[in-house]
Amino acid sequence: MPKKYHIHPKATPLDLDYIFKFKIVRGENCINCGKCSKVCIYEAHKRSKDDPRKMADPNTVVCRNCFRCIQECPRGALEKSLDNGFLSTGGAYWKSDMLISLWKQAEDGNVPVSGAGYRGPFTGTGFDSMWTDMSEIVRPTRDGIHGREYISTSVELGRRLNHLVFGAEGQLISKVPDTVDVSLPILFDFPADKLSSHVKLAMAKAAAELNTFVIMPVGDISAEFEKYDDNIIPRLSAEEIEGNKDIIKKARIVSIEYEDSLLNKLSTLKEKIKKISRALIIIRVPAVKDVEYTVTKLAHDGAEIIHITADYRGQELNSSTGTGSRHLKDIIRSVHQRLVEDQIRDEITIIVSGGIGAAEHVTKAMLCGADLMAIDLPLMIGLGARIYEDREKFLVFPEGLAKIPTAIVTQRMINLMGAWHSQILEMMGAMGIREARRLRGESGRAIFFEEIDKDTFGKLF
Ligand code: SF4
Ligand code: SF4
Repeated sequence: MPKKYHIHPKATPLDLDYIFKFKIVRGENCINCGKCSKVCIYEAHKRSKDDPRKMADPNTVVCRNCFRCIQECPRGALEKSLDNGFLSTGGAYWKSDMLISLWKQAEDGNVPVSGAGYRGPFTGTGFDSMWTDMSEIVRPTRDGIHGREYISTSVELGRRLNHLVFGAEGQLISKVPDTVDVSLPILFDFPADKLSSHVKLAMAKAAAELNTFVIMPVGDISAEFEKYDDNIIPRLSAEEIEGNKDIIKKARIVSIEYEDSLLNKLSTLKEKIKKISRALIIIRVPAVKDVEYTVTKLAHDGAEIIHITADYRGQELNSSTGTGSRHLKDIIRSVHQRLVEDQIRDEITIIVSGGIGAAEHVTKAMLCGADLMAIDLPLMIGLGARIYEDREKFLVFPEGLAKIPTAIVTQRMINLMGAWHSQILEMMGAMGIREARRLRGESGRAIFFEEIDKDTFGKLF
């Protein structure tokens, strides 16, 4: 049995304020009795340092929203209300609650608790309209998924053979293509915004530690990244290949931007790169309306790995969120189905990105038919970046980020992936799936709200 894969999270708080959901306000009728300071185990209520007869302003940041102080105050002097920062951050897709959860997971690597007392809706848009079959959760194995039971989250990148051919003597005739294993079905991708050099370095370091990859624009790869060559996927256009031979030579995988001309000359591109190195080739394809056609054509022409990129909400590119615009989950299902029909699905690797904002999205995207994801925004949110969907400046990094040491930035990315890894294990354990690669296309393990809604009420309305 292969060695178990472990991620080692470490509490790594940042000295930066992030969004909090509620603020506590102490009203004027407070009699400074101090009862709230006794009942709050998180020490949100303390006496003023300057005048111990009075209470200091409540420390909302440490509050865990148990409401005990509010219930026990003899004067009803405490109030909790939604904070303005919470209300103004995020948007329709990247909700403030999602941002807070990612930030907390990056702090300590713990699994967020959201099930107990859940009062939210049971369906929504995108991945929220998908439920997973957790029927195996009723008979957990004796010592659980973190004990003796082995669940593997590793996946393979590269072209695979549909079948093997053996000669008359029983010798293998098929040429088995090169593949690369990653321990998590997650790669790191660079967001469109400019990143400071220490964040880029931290992404490479975290990718190396986690045994995965970071996809980096080739222009960003400088000498300081040399140590992480094995975990960097240079991203470039076909025209840039000639000028970047040295970088390609060292890479295990390269990512090439899709352009229409590739539909007719993929083999020329492959030959050009294979002359420089044995690197596997990702073709990075935008998730536009006819992406199924592009992916299928590339797959038939011998593409090894295809990376489908949707927008930050997981929506089809070049479309509004209105009717007709598909979410990533529907795009993946459709692409997967086309490849299955063409009997070529098993041969290629499909990476997807856009709108992946929680560990459950990884598992759900795989059930729809993806092999693995590439993520960018969750890593930035873990560092304190805020998203404002309605504003011109979409991603806002915290002011103090530049002063935070690279080691801390790296550890927070590791923590976030540690929390996601634990959640993926929980979901897989509950579904009775022991290998992440077996999640791919297992749509029978999921229930799609749109489908049951249509089955149940379609005939009536
Ligand atoms: S319990 Fe109420 S009255 Fe007493 S100090 Fe706290 S807020 Fe003031
Ligand atoms: S709501 Fe609970 S955690 Fe928050 S300040 Fe009051 S007692 Fe402390």
